[in-house]
Amino acid sequence: MKRPIFFSDLDDTVFQTARKMDGVPAPENLASEALNGSHSYMSPAQAAMMEWLLASTRFIPVTARSTKAIGRCRLPFQDYQICTNGAVILWPDGRPDSDWLRQTQSQADMRDLTALLDFVQTQTEPGKYRSWIVEEYGTGYYFCVKSNSTAAALDQIDHRLTMLAGGRLVRHRNDNNLSFTPKGISKRHAVEYLLRTHLHDNTAPVFGMGDSLTDLPFMAVCDMMVIPRASQISREIFHTGAA
Ligand SMILES: [Mg+2]
Repeated sequence: MKRPIFFSDLDDTVFQTARKMDGVPAPENLASEALNGSHSYMSPAQAAMMEWLLASTRFIPVTARSTKAIGRCRLPFQDYQICTNGAVILWPDGRPDSDWLRQTQSQADMRDLTALLDFVQTQTEPGKYRSWIVEEYGTGYYFCVKSNSTAAALDQIDHRLTMLAGGRLVRHRNDNNLSFTPKGISKRHAVEYLLRTHLHDNTAPVFGMGDSLTDLPFMAVCDMMVIPRASQISREIFHTGAA
């Protein structure tokens, strides 16, 4: 039997930073090292799930992480990897898919991203936020900003940034994470491309798993959708408010 294809978001789906977990995480469940020391861990259930999925499916990460940041994950991914919000697809041998890269490079527009970066860096209190443009192979792909205090502090700049972005960039907001990605670049487009090209002879079921509302479009092109119990999507479905 062919192994099911399992497209999955990573952060807050298969692991999360220690501050979001109940109790002290087990060191053997370290999933990703962060440059700022805020490492990510799997819960015992997530660790068991990943052992099962990596052994029994074609597990394909679908993440906003750059190729560098996904490289800091300890999990042994062996198949394709969709990085940088869909801008880059890595082959199992680690090389980027050059046809896809050419397409997404033509969709990227540094001017829009720079305008957002300039706003945060010149119009807000120094040290209040940290912001950057995620680049790959010399191309700027998306803008990201985080608060250095509480996630709620992002509310003060969210509207202004959304106005600046106009309709050209897609806004993503979940907890202390606000980002804007050009419309033509998305996790969904990358998943569709892989299914259409390299996985077109697939007859196995396709799963999509993710925690954020912005994961739903890529999950919706899969046969089955999987969500964590505590997630932005489940809060939306059950109207339980922020965790
Ligand atoms: Mg996530």
